[in-house]
Amino acid sequence: MAPAAGGTSEGSGTTPVVGAAATTAAGEPGATGGPGATAVVAGQLGSTALPVGSAGEPWSSGVRRGNDGAVEVAGVGVAELAADHGTPSYVLDEADFRARARAYRTAFEAAFAAVGTGVDVYYAGKALLTMAVARWAREEGLRVDTASGGELAVALRAGVPGEAIGLHGNNKSDAEIAHAFDHGVGRIIVDSLAEIDRVADLAAERGVVAPVMVRVTTGVHAGGHEYISTAHEDQKFGLSVNVAAGPGTDSPAMAALLRILERPSLRLLGIHSHIGSQILDPDGFEAAARAVLELRAELATRTGVLVGEVDLGGGYGIAYLPGEVALDPERVAQDIASSVAEAAANLGTPLPRFSIEPGRAIVGPAGMTLYTVGTVKPVTVGGDDGEPFTRLYVSVDGGMSDNIRPALYGADYHAEVVGRSSVAEPVLARVVGKHCESGDIVVHQVMLPGDVRAGDLLAVAATGAYGRSMASNYNMLPRPPVVGVRDGASRVLVRRETEDDLLRLDQG
Ligand SMILES: *Cc1c(COP(=O)(O)O)cnc(C)c1O
Repeated sequence: MAPAAGGTSEGSGTTPVVGAAATTAAGEPGATGGPGATAVVAGQLGSTALPVGSAGEPWSSGVRRGNDGAVEVAGVGVAELAADHGTPSYVLDEADFRARARAYRTAFEAAFAAVGTGVDVYYAGKALLTMAVARWAREEGLRVDTASGGELAVALRAGVPGEAIGLHGNNKSDAEIAHAFDHGVGRIIVDSLAEIDRVADLAAERGVVAPVMVRVTTGVHAGGHEYISTAHEDQKFGLSVNVAAGPGTDSPAMAALLRILERPSLRLLGIHSHIGSQILDPDGFEAAARAVLELRAELATRTGVLVGEVDLGGGYGIAYLPGEVALDPERVAQDIASSVAEAAANLGTPLPRFSIEPGRAIVGPAGMTLYTVGTVKPVTVGGDDGEPFTRLYVSVDGGMSDNIRPALYGADYHAEVVGRSSVAEPVLARVVGKHCESGDIVVHQVMLPGDVRAGDLLAVAATGAYGRSMASNYNMLPRPPVVGVRDGASRVLVRRETEDDLLRLDQG
């Protein structure tokens, strides 16, 4: 399949599928733009050079190309960033992060206030969690979601109060659960019947009452890639609202809610649903929300307990390529709010308080990765139709260790030469890393100036989410720093690893 103009990333063309039949992946890995895709028409991806002035998506709002052809972020030139911090580096535009956090909070607060209820926005820390990032989220009025003891530790060290933190995970350890109790974590999202018993027992032992939500799967399958779509039935997360073991038995979700109500050491806050990631169509959120409200009403009918909260998870999609359009927070907030208001009215139940958990949509576009180009190698490839063509392999000084998403999901990114302008004819290029894997691809296909050469600075857009947080030390590469930029100045938020760091754990 040839990529459409602007290409598609893993989230495009999402169709939510409701019900137990939701087994087909909405977006096959690499359906377009994946490793096999070859057809890029010059000019289809737009100008290969950022226009002078504000760049627009997929770049952060602080990215500009100046008259000299070099790019700056929040007033700091890329040459200065490279000289001060080296490459590769993750560069994070603080004002852009804050603006997106604010946009989500204000859009959801306004939309849910208009239907008579409230909403809390949790920043999903797994997308990128550093102490500075956690503080920015807090200062913009967000809470913080964590998915492990380590993420919890970062949020706490940053000064986020326990009651403003949620703890997720399908396989939490006793130590993680105890850690959450010790710091008064505001909610533990339980993911199995066994975990309900474990949390209840640990809470009883300590003489505390644990606030819990139940993670349910609604059969709504949204998001671009099978591995990041989490609400269909055949995967490890959550408890199904649909599939019961037999006639007359409860769904696993209902069984979990009833089990919690039996345990005095647990306080049932509500129901949680996270349907996937990189979702570009609000329908999936609406369908899942309706299913959760139905479960809530059914529980009320059976037990008289009407739970007070519903969390709709994260997954709000962003632009990775020029021409792609991110989900608009105002539109999605209004769509979800009006749809839940209607559903609650039909069910005859008052609305609960809601919460959402965006990660990627807040930090993804705020980040870019700055690399230095090394080896540039033209490779002649036999085309699908037998017509050979040349692909320019542009190697950078990082790769799958700092961004695993292209290798993991066939995810698409956009790259540009940012240290200078070029009038050279654009050529079909593939940006690759320096690792010992042929799948070590950073950008599958992009038009780059034909004179791209060793020493050029190259930036990949929208790498703020799931780049640093999924980074590894493969080939013993030190992980790059996270550099915050704001008002013409840069600051190291997480320093670059050194070879000493790499050796520190090795006991010889
Ligand atoms: C991953 C995850 C999120 C955040 O997803 P994004 O796609 O980054 O918005 C939110 N909630 C839960 C439970 C998650 O697992």
